[in-house]
Amino acid sequence: MSLFVASLNSGSNGNCYYIGNQEEAVLIDGGISCREIEKRLKRLELSIKKVKAVFVSHEHGDHIHGVAALAKKHRLPVYITPPTLRNGNLMLREDQTFSFRAYDPVQIGNLTVTAFPKFHDAVDPHSFVVSGNGVQVGIFTDIGVSCAHVIAHFKQCHAAFLEANYDEDMLENGRYPLSLKNRIRGGNGHLSNRQAMELFLEHRPPFMSHLFLAHLSRNNNAPEIVENLFSGLTDQTEIIIASRDKETSLYHIQHTGSPIPVVAKRKVSLKHHQLSLFS
Ligand SMILES: [Zn+2]
Ligand SMILES: [Zn+2]
Repeated sequence: MSLFVASLNSGSNGNCYYIGNQEEAVLIDGGISCREIEKRLKRLELSIKKVKAVFVSHEHGDHIHGVAALAKKHRLPVYITPPTLRNGNLMLREDQTFSFRAYDPVQIGNLTVTAFPKFHDAVDPHSFVVSGNGVQVGIFTDIGVSCAHVIAHFKQCHAAFLEANYDEDMLENGRYPLSLKNRIRGGNGHLSNRQAMELFLEHRPPFMSHLFLAHLSRNNNAPEIVENLFSGLTDQTEIIIASRDKETSLYHIQHTGSPIPVVAKRKVSLKHHQLSLFS
């Protein structure tokens, strides 16, 4: 009753997350080169042969950079929505390309991958929850806001990759042009450390054993800041800072005896940030 998870890289320089059981695994995004993905899996003593599919969250380069090469070399199916495929200009073989729809679970062996839409400045961005063996793992990066969807799914996860992109003061006082600052913090960009902490404190389920803080900005954040902010908040959840430069360890996420949660499949309109269906 467990899943194995690792971040192979996390940040605006490339994102790739591994979630698997004993026999099979999926990668969420492939934003580093195929070679680096292979190398890092090997260092974790994971066989690339276990990887059965890649899911693409959105078309930004830090999420798709290595996808085409990886799919070609290892004959992997790529799950991607048609708008993301078009906008990402990904050269994928048609017979390796599969669409997915929000709330429709995709079965990869004994793993279930369910997507849901998120706020981000991409054409059709999605977050994912991967479940198997009674364990749910969420991948919540590149989210402009902790919307009702994120909250509902976060509450059901035994482990989550949660974006902590920027320190609000560093962004405010940094050298980015105002337009870029506003893009990052404007509700369709990225989640700040404070927003991530509030989501964690208010909505962490008692069975969440691991929280991976992810997609840290190089210019507007630092691992020590995130570590300080989250240290001492709880001793029930292990906090891991996912690196921008290397893989994390491989973590073993166990089903902790809580009732097996069910991924919310209810559709909500994402036209407005103030969503109330889950509150
Ligand atoms: Zn990104
Ligand atoms: Zn993005």
